[in-house]
Amino acid sequence: SLTARNIHLAFGSNKVLRGIDLHVPRGTTASVIGPSGSGKSTLLRVMNRLIEPDAGDILLDERSVLADNPDELRRRIGMVFQQFNLFPHKTVADNVALALNKLRKLPKDQARAKALEQLDMVGLKHKADARPGNLSGGQQQRVAIARALAMEPEVMFFDEATSALDPELVKGILALMTDLSKGGMTMVVVTHEMGFCRNVSDTVTFMDGGVVVETGPPDELFSAPKTERLKGFLSDVL
Ligand code: ATP
Ligand code: MG
Repeated sequence: SLTARNIHLAFGSNKVLRGIDLHVPRGTTASVIGPSGSGKSTLLRVMNRLIEPDAGDILLDERSVLADNPDELRRRIGMVFQQFNLFPHKTVADNVALALNKLRKLPKDQARAKALEQLDMVGLKHKADARPGNLSGGQQQRVAIARALAMEPEVMFFDEATSALDPELVKGILALMTDLSKGGMTMVVVTHEMGFCRNVSDTVTFMDGGVVVETGPPDELFSAPKTERLKGFLSDVL
């Protein structure tokens, strides 16, 4: 399981996270929703230790990871962003193989073999030697997902992974994320895709103003929101 416990974080005087708790049991998918600026991306970045919290704890399998080397945690958590962050001058296969070679210390031929295997899983083996710029947005996002999965993470984070895609490409990425979720990956998904939230996630957490306003099974949150804030948010997005 992955647990954030009473996380506080401020950027200067801006208190962005004000006592966040999030618990994601192994093999489950947690969606995080909330208005722009509510702290969703910052929470993900604190949970994989791209940013250190001012207070609180991060636990992986009930063990605090804050005393460990942050690189260690980042290796155990794969991350997919709205912007795919691929290296434009490297081939698709090299984009996937790079971290395997540099971080996992796999010899180049083995890194490439694993990269091709992972690209095959997202249906893009035939694009292995193309440059990212010659792929559609949806294909680039598949490469980014393949790159993250190649590292064999224990947990996957998605931060608005479909927000930059043309509408016709969104479905394919959501289907891939759904397969991963059903396949038992532990996932934290920040998303505006309410269909995914409702039908795929095990829990939904609604954040606003740096706090968790409501959290629970999707049916509960969507059918019977308890707070005016969540009611208002849902009426805006649904
Ligand atoms: P969105 O839905 O628009 O992506 P979000 O919920 O992901 O919003 P965050 O990106 O976490 O929101 O931002 C929360 C707050 O933290 C905002 O007020 C933002 O301006 C501030 N913030 C985020 N990153 C930084 C940073 N690196 N330095 C200073 N302030 C930041
Ligand atoms: Mg964000």
